[in-house]
Order: sequence, then C-alpha cells, then structure tokens
Amino acid sequence: GRGVAMVTAVAARLAAHRRLLEETLAPFRLSHEQLATVQTQMREAMAKGLRREASSLRMLPTYVRATPDGSERGDFLALDLGGTNFRVLLVRVAEGGVQIVNQVYSIPECVAQGSGQQLFDHIVDCIVDFQQKQGLRGQSLPLGFTFSFPCKQLGLDQGILLNWTKGFNASGCEGQDVVYLLREAIKRRQAVELNVVAIVNDTVGTMMSCGYEDPRCEMGLIVGTGTNACYMEELQNVAGVAGDSGHMCINMEWGAFGDDGSLGMLSTCFDVRVDQASINPGKQRFEKMISGMYLGEIVRHILLHLTSLGVLFQGQQTQRLQTRDIFKTKFLSEIESFANLVAATVRELAPRCVVTFLQSEDGSGKGAALVTAVACRLAQMACV
Ligand code: BGC
Ligand code: MG
Repeated sequence: GRGVAMVTAVAARLAAHRRLLEETLAPFRLSHEQLATVQTQMREAMAKGLRREASSLRMLPTYVRATPDGSERGDFLALDLGGTNFRVLLVRVAEGGVQIVNQVYSIPECVAQGSGQQLFDHIVDCIVDFQQKQGLRGQSLPLGFTFSFPCKQLGLDQGILLNWTKGFNASGCEGQDVVYLLREAIKRRQAVELNVVAIVNDTVGTMMSCGYEDPRCEMGLIVGTGTNACYMEELQNVAGVAGDSGHMCINMEWGAFGDDGSLGMLSTCFDVRVDQASINPGKQRFEKMISGMYLGEIVRHILLHLTSLGVLFQGQQTQRLQTRDIFKTKFLSEIESFANLVAATVRELAPRCVVTFLQSEDGSGKGAALVTAVACRLAQMACV
C-alpha cells in the first residue's frame, strides 16, 4: 500500500522534473528550419553590409589582398590584443618554417577599462620588456598588430576603432586610429623605435596562418573569448574600395549579428539576462549567444533557473552558483567537445560545398606576422 504510493510519488516527481528540464532546454536545440532562417538572414545581412547599406554585419574591408605563398621571409614582431591575455611575439619566418618566441602579459581589468593612454602605455611597456629580454633593443623590426576589435580600415596600417567589445572599454579610443594611438605611446616612451606595418583582426591572422600551410584556405573563424569570421571576397562586390579586380579579405564582425533585433526569435530569457549584465547591453548579440566570454554565464543562469524550479540541488540556491563567471566555458567544452556537430551542421546547411576545417596554430600571433610578411613581400620592401 504505502510503499507503492511512495514509489509512484517519486516517479511522478521525476517525470515532472524531466518535463521542466526538457522545457527549459528545448529553445537551445535549433530545428533545421530555424537554422535555415538564420542562414538566410545572415546572407542578406552580408549582402547589405558589402553594399554599405545599414546592416548588423559591418563587412569591413581589411586591405589584405593575398594569402601567403610560402616565399615570405624575415623576422617580425607581433602584438596580440583582444583575447584573454596580451602577448608580444618574435616571429621568424624562414626556409624551414615559422619559429615563434612569445611572452604573455596580463592586462588588468582596471587598465582594459581605464584610459586609452594608460592602456597603450602599458602595451609599450610590455614591448620594451620583451625587447630587453630577447636582446632586441635598438632593432626596429616590422610589426604586425593583431587587434581583435571592429576597425574601419583605410589601409593596412590604419584602423579606426569603431567600438570596443568583450571586456574592454578604455576611454578615448573609439573613433581613433589605433595605430596612431600606439605610435603616440611609442613617442611618449622615447627609447623605443617600432615600425608598425599592419593592423590585423584575429580572424584574418587565423586565415593567414592556415593559408601558409594550405593555400586553399580562404576563411578565418574564431570562437574564443568573442566570435567572428572573415573570408576572401571578390573586390568587385565590395563597395567603397577602389578597384574591381582581385580579392580582399572582409572582416564580417559577425559577433554583432542580430544587433538589429533579427535574432530575437532565438533569444532565450537566459540570453537576455547575460546581455543585460554585460558592459554593452544590446550589442554583440550573436557573440553573447555562442562565445567563451558568455557561454559559461548562460549555463549558470540555466542552473539557477532549474534550482528555482526544484529540479536541481533540491531547490537550494547557493552563494557559489550566484557568483558571476563561476562556471567556466571550458567546462562546457569538456562536456560537449564543439567538432562533429559543427561538421555535420555545415554539411546540412551547405550540402553542395565541401568545407574542411583546419585548426590554426597561433592564428593571432603567427597570422599578424604573416600579414606583415606578405605586405613586405608585395611592397618588395627589404624587411630583413
Ligand atoms: C571582435 C572581433 C574579433 C572577435 C574574436 C569580437 O568581439 O569584435 O573583432 O575578431 O571578437 O576575437
Ligand atoms: Mg586570440
């Protein structure tokens, strides 16, 4: 009698929990139709962006016109700003391949969100430290600057920061040429001489570093702290850049996809919470749905919700789970490791294309050096 009743009650509660769990997670499983809709919207936004019409995809010309051909040679300095850490690298591109020496420097949050002058002074201090340690003082090697934020480029060595993303918000930089800000900081530091040749988005660096291994590589894709993609486009399709023949790499800035509200139908209450708690609400909506800086937070909000429903932890909220960023995105990638699913979905959405994914080896570092190397080769400059 009573035993059976208790078992039935437990079973009913489990079934109810399972239903709540399914209901909570269902919006995260996209149907083919939903994916196809996003695909269509993205394609339209790309076309508009290329024509310079209002679009959440900025489709920024990068002035990178060629991928490496393998004949590049020389020693280069590279900077990598915009991920979790700041890095300074010495990249040797030689007959036998590419050799890299690099050093990681942290950018304290107070510097990332302080004044622009402070940020760029800090960057130059790190470069000076690196040069000292590597015995490079007095040499002015060509420098490639991987700067992983949206920039309106007017040339390879000129990039106006449109807006900060991710955890950065240093004042006085938006609307300014980042290479100019770097050169000014170099002047303030007097003792250094640097020859800034190129400013490079990390997606472009990624494409270039893969292109060095396999010249068929024509796209770069990042899902890291933030997310973005670039690809080689026919110049005739790019409004606002002189010339009609040849190609140019386009930085899509797809992290901002959906900032016009178009992803609203896919946005869950958890996405809304993560967006609202960020330093740039309403911005980088696509990025906030998929990239490393935010995914862990989405999971944490789901866990909080399931706890409030009594599905998890017997309904007991803990201080720990209420702590921001306590659930790291790396746990998520350990649970669901992001490769077969990606390949299968790409096959489903682009059945007539053969897409091969290559993992880039230090795209931001090696890539910036290679962009610089290609520029030097094209300009037939004597860089070495
Ligand atoms: C930036 C992009 C960058 C991407 C990946 C985004 O937040 O806007 O420029 O490529 O992050 O680092
Ligand atoms: Mg990076």
